[in-house]
Amino acid sequence: MARSRFACLRRIASPCLALTDPVMRTWAQLYLGMALEGTGEVEGARAAYGKVVERWGKPIPRSITAEKAILVDDRCRTNIPEIYAAGDCAAIFDPLFNKHRLCDYWETAAITGAIAGANMSSAAKSGATPPLPDHYIAVSSFSTQLFDLRLAVWGAPRSVDRRIIRGNPNVESPEVIEIGVDTSGRVAQVAAFGHVNEHPALASLVQRRLLMNGNEERLKDPGTPLESF
Ligand SMILES: Cc1cc2nc3c(=O)[nH]c(=O)nc-3n(C[C@H](O)[C@H](O)[C@H](O)COP(=O)(O)OP(=O)(O)OC[C@H]3O[C@@H](n4cnc5c(N)ncnc54)[C@H](O)[C@@H]3O)c2cc1C
Repeated sequence: MARSRFACLRRIASPCLALTDPVMRTWAQLYLGMALEGTGEVEGARAAYGKVVERWGKPIPRSITAEKAILVDDRCRTNIPEIYAAGDCAAIFDPLFNKHRLCDYWETAAITGAIAGANMSSAAKSGATPPLPDHYIAVSSFSTQLFDLRLAVWGAPRSVDRRIIRGNPNVESPEVIEIGVDTSGRVAQVAAFGHVNEHPALASLVQRRLLMNGNEERLKDPGTPLESF
């Protein structure tokens, strides 16, 4: 069992995924590093962590310009009347983080596509902008499948200053939750391997931008219900 988990992680962490899914590959390297560290394989762990630092440790600020994405407001409107943009080509204004964000994920593409469509149709019919919920008010999220594990991520990774781990992942039981906190001490991102039943509560931590306020140790403890925060 343990060996097959290692083999899975090693396969995902291999360079084959570097072009098609670099994010998944880097996550796999991170968890491979943690698993190897747990079994005392220091050199292997160091090599895996090294790959993560290489990719994520030196972030290059990505300016969102017309070259990267089309800036749209929270109704998917561009600065040109009657032109809307949605999905991967658009950087939408996210009121939760008070900035334009390029969220190139399935969920965001579906949500922004629906918002653009509703606003276009409403504007075409009456010249008016529709009321809520046709603003962008979602907690941006990304999900994907890693063999039998579901990875779900909410929020803004670029705002994360430090990370809190909830639970003790190991090779037999790799389910874990990672909570990213920004410089003001608020939850900016949550990433969960598994824990599907807790998804609404995890999304809510980001939606409420939960203030840590001395809660860190309780948050690390999987025995403390998320609803109590
Ligand atoms: C390998 C890979 C893995 C991914 N895995 C995940 C994942 O696990 N989870 C997740 O949330 N997201 C994932 N994504 C991202 C996700 O696929 C995108 O965010 C989403 O598909 C964006 O939807 P979209 O409609 O904006 O663009 P697209 O899905 O790219 O659709 C754009 C369409 O426009 C067409 N098109 C382009 N130019 C023209 C033209 N000039 N004329 C006519 N048609 C044109 C294209 O052919 C395409 O069909 C992945 C992306 C890739 C590439």
